[in-house]
Amino acid sequence: MSIQAIQQTIETYNTIIIHRHVRPDPDALGSQAGLGEMIKASYPDKLVYVVGEDDPSLTFLVEMDKIEDSTFKDALIIICDTANTGRIDDERYKLGSKIIKIDHHPDVDQYGDISWVDTSASSTSEMIYEFFLQADGLVMNDEAARLLYGGIVGDTGRFLFPSTTKKTLQYAAELVTYNFDRTELYDGIYNVKDNIARMRGYILQNFTLDKNGLSVMKLTKDILQQFNVGVLETGQLVGTLGEIEGILAWVFFIEEDDQIRVRLRSKGPIINEVAAKYNGGGHPLASGASVYSWQEAEQVVNDLKFVLSEYRK
Ligand code: AMP
Repeated sequence: MSIQAIQQTIETYNTIIIHRHVRPDPDALGSQAGLGEMIKASYPDKLVYVVGEDDPSLTFLVEMDKIEDSTFKDALIIICDTANTGRIDDERYKLGSKIIKIDHHPDVDQYGDISWVDTSASSTSEMIYEFFLQADGLVMNDEAARLLYGGIVGDTGRFLFPSTTKKTLQYAAELVTYNFDRTELYDGIYNVKDNIARMRGYILQNFTLDKNGLSVMKLTKDILQQFNVGVLETGQLVGTLGEIEGILAWVFFIEEDDQIRVRLRSKGPIINEVAAKYNGGGHPLASGASVYSWQEAEQVVNDLKFVLSEYRK
């Protein structure tokens, strides 16, 4: 069984380096650093590092370790919340000795010497808590609980998304018995800067809605500049259309220097197959992709229109 194999492998390595996906969200960081804290608390002699680029809006959760290439030699690499190798933050994972994948996304890219993938889990943080429960004698502490709770909250939209199960709520209930400041955590995840709030206003004023329930939002470089919003920050904007009656699925196109980032969300129709067609992937109801021209963006819109019309039949 994967959980036992994962624990046994952790026990045989002195250095453990934990990665997660690029452009991290609270679940990527929460599962990565929550697991790191748990391993440190359980095996105080081991050297445990979390790596990847810091996102300034999420450093309240955790800051990454800066380590030399040589540290990777003979290290165990654990990669959390990352479906495909192309999205692993810090490519030096390749320098490690053994790779463990822990993830809740569909297993499109089956990498890793050991792989534990559970698409029924609301979040990878939920899986890390399950790992704690099922493994033998692991230690949980307040900091690990704060990180895992933050990850679960982030990926379930505060327990709103259908991915939230009885187990999710049970684990969350157990995690809040640890000592951490929940209000501070929510403020960190959900408070937005004034530029984001104003851009939300723009989105709410300008979204489109077609007869099948598809909404399209194009954020060109000019618009991003006008509101002084960085590409990383657009992650805080995609949920804006989720509460609007009649919208079944929506897509954000975010223009960057070398590509147009596609962020897809749905309340029913399966959209990750469209993402997979355009260099992307993700969950059935929340996925992402990349296109390289506005013409290609139109093709994505057409594919989504087709998915929605089929869904409504
Ligand atoms: P985002 O819009 O970045 O929050 O992404 C939504 C979901 O889609 C997340 O679960 C991501 O892991 C996944 N995702 C986003 N972009 C990609 C991509 N280019 N390839 C694979 N999965 C992606």
